[in-house]
Amino acid sequence: MFHASFRPSSVSDGRHPLAPYGWDERWAADFEPYAGRGLLPGRVVRVDRGQCDVATVEGLVRADTSFVTPHDPLRVVCTGDWAAVDPVDAGDPRYVRACLPRRTAFARSTSSKRSEGQVLAANVDHAVITVSLAVELDLGRIERFLALAWESGAQPTVVLSKADLVPDPVGLSYLVEDVETVAPGVQVLPVSCTTGEGLDVLAATIAGGTTVLLGVSGAGKSTLANTLVGEEIMTVQAARDVDGKGRHTTTTRNLFVLPGGGVLIDTPGLRGVGLWDAETGVGQVFSEIEELAGDCRFHDCAHDAEPGCAVTAAIEEGALPARRLESYRKLIRENRRIVAKTDARVRSEMLKEWKRIGAGGRAAMEFKRQGRIR
Ligand code: ZN
Repeated sequence: MFHASFRPSSVSDGRHPLAPYGWDERWAADFEPYAGRGLLPGRVVRVDRGQCDVATVEGLVRADTSFVTPHDPLRVVCTGDWAAVDPVDAGDPRYVRACLPRRTAFARSTSSKRSEGQVLAANVDHAVITVSLAVELDLGRIERFLALAWESGAQPTVVLSKADLVPDPVGLSYLVEDVETVAPGVQVLPVSCTTGEGLDVLAATIAGGTTVLLGVSGAGKSTLANTLVGEEIMTVQAARDVDGKGRHTTTTRNLFVLPGGGVLIDTPGLRGVGLWDAETGVGQVFSEIEELAGDCRFHDCAHDAEPGCAVTAAIEEGALPARRLESYRKLIRENRRIVAKTDARVRSEMLKEWKRIGAGGRAAMEFKRQGRIR
């Protein structure tokens, strides 16, 4: 259970005080060199302009991230990272001295115009893709979220929220089947926060790790998050925490310990989402197509009009919906565009070109501004 006056109580059950935050033997092993230097392990619950809040055995501490902020935006400290921070007697400010290597990371392109990547959450085990049953299913959108989830390294689960709006069990099972056809290897779970349907299964699924909720606005993410956390997240946000020196500070957080076990990360950035170099992820979403492609006569078959193409044969036989191949191509194309836009070599060429033609001024400034992370 999350307590507003957060301070991991010393251990009645013999577990490490940070175990509710996901601390395990592997993290302990990774942390060993830093323990030798007298540093504290902790999990980043929020990042804000050069500072972050870290849950440690000394409580929630605020630490400066300037020691570990590299120029690569994909390596900046983010919510969910495990950090090595100065101990309480180190003076003010405390610093994050290192971040442990990430097991998984959620990244996205920050918008269609700015193509820098940004890490939204680190060390995520489960990506719960929330899809509302109040509106018509958009299978292409589900595929997109699945690609992002697989790419991050997290295991996706699709939650069909507002299941109480489909009272007919047969109708509901058809909807589940529809989603299952685009989600090979993924659990599809109808859930209702109104009736409680499916919540116990979901809680058990995510109990063993760190979870993010993905989905468009209106999909029911906030309600689901509040239900899982057990209270209004906004109320938790307003709660007063005690920092490492016993002072009360008002703080917001983007990482919550769940009463049923596990951790939920809810950052504003996760609410809008695009693909980011997710080609491997796309392959996993369309694993049945990649499998069929292995039987194509030509290794580089484009599944177009090539002779001996197993993919188009499967479509003709009705074993593969044509929509799936179109969707696959669309996501591959989109992903290539994003990667091309952000390729460092391409960018430096563009910059050179600007200098050469003397268009420097505004365009270069604009480029530099866009190239920086916020
Ligand atoms: Zn083919």
